[in-house]
Amino acid sequence: MKVYVSVDMEGIAGILLPEQLKKGELYYEEARKLLTTEVNVVIEGLLEAGVNDIYVKDAHGTGFNFIASELHHGARYCMGATNVSNRFPGLDSTFDGAMLIGYHAMGGTEYAIRDHTMTSVGWQSIHLNGRPIGEIGIDSLLFGLHNVPVLIVTGDKKTCAEAIEEIPNVRTYETKEGFGRHAALIKPPKLVYRELKESIKESIATRTNVMPTTLDAPYELVMKFLSTDQLDQRYFDGTRSKRIDGLTASYSSDDIIEVLSIAL
Ligand SMILES: [Zn+2]
Repeated sequence: MKVYVSVDMEGIAGILLPEQLKKGELYYEEARKLLTTEVNVVIEGLLEAGVNDIYVKDAHGTGFNFIASELHHGARYCMGATNVSNRFPGLDSTFDGAMLIGYHAMGGTEYAIRDHTMTSVGWQSIHLNGRPIGEIGIDSLLFGLHNVPVLIVTGDKKTCAEAIEEIPNVRTYETKEGFGRHAALIKPPKLVYRELKESIKESIATRTNVMPTTLDAPYELVMKFLSTDQLDQRYFDGTRSKRIDGLTASYSSDDIIEVLSIAL
């Protein structure tokens, strides 16, 4: 069995502050240890569930957050910067399932740790074909293009709620409950490691309950920016890309990768 694991950082157990999430900041090195330990727990769960081919993508920031020397030997790791058109290197239809570990809720979600969509500083919200969408929705569509279902999503309480909205029958595991953007009632990481491993195994056992995420063409992505000069600096061709008003742009195409690539 073959599984693709995408790992972000905001939803990892014990992580809630901006100083934990950025290279060079005071608590970043400790946060990398929390991240790497949790990744190893996921791999242990997958191996115990009979998964023998595991790809793990370091999906936070520049893609270089795992501590390589401490990574479990039982998987392969995609590290370094990627773009939307190649967000999950090596992904193809031979994978039996995908997992979104340490994710966060979409930009604008109340009481959600580090709520944002793709960037914390670029824009406020994204709608795809009329519905608000965050990274859980975007990534489940990217896996769906290869007919790969997302089996489990982990992160804070709002992340889990968003996952259930996006992916029918997906399993979720909650690592903390936000009561502000940078404040949370956290589960101790040692408890998370025990429970998470079981959830990973259960998500493999019940994998046939979840279908790959799909969305029919044509696609229209509407983005609400934070400041008018961000749009002043963008090129709009008037057909596939349009400026709707001072803060809003829309992008359209029959190709989902194209629409995401030109917009994000
Ligand atoms: Zn992140």
